[in-house]
Amino acid sequence: MADYRVGIGYDLHQLVAGRKLVLGGVTVPYDRGLSGHSDADVLLHAVTDALLGACALPDIGELFPDTDPAYAGADSAKLLLAAMTRVRDAGFQPHNVDCVIHAEQPKLSAYKRPIAERIAELLGLAADRVSVKAKTNEGVGPVGTGEAIAATVVVMVRLEA
Ligand code: MG
Repeated sequence: MADYRVGIGYDLHQLVAGRKLVLGGVTVPYDRGLSGHSDADVLLHAVTDALLGACALPDIGELFPDTDPAYAGADSAKLLLAAMTRVRDAGFQPHNVDCVIHAEQPKLSAYKRPIAERIAELLGLAADRVSVKAKTNEGVGPVGTGEAIAATVVVMVRLEA
């Protein structure tokens, strides 16, 4: 019988002026972007942590410390691909991914499909195995007031025999 494992990832970054907004590897036009040591792609960070968690591997902060200058301004897609190598080396293959982006602004409906396609490409999955949803926070809390964008991701992986 197939051996499936599930993992969850969560991340939040602050929205600030003078930064590009990158979500799921896709640049989204907006007057602010996410602050962080890398490109601060909150969604790819949550995907990476969900994948690593499903395989019980060390988390993104352990693999790519934000104190390491090597990761300053890093493309989070490259960090995800490095995590994918660890996942495959441990004998796992991604099975499907379900994502929620928590953002009051900008409106993301036009970007959900391109983001899902990019995540599918990075994980070597068919696009119909990746779901991307966007939710506002009803004006409440740091997400609702536009101080931050967060992401929650669940990934299922399959242990290859
Ligand atoms: Mg992060």
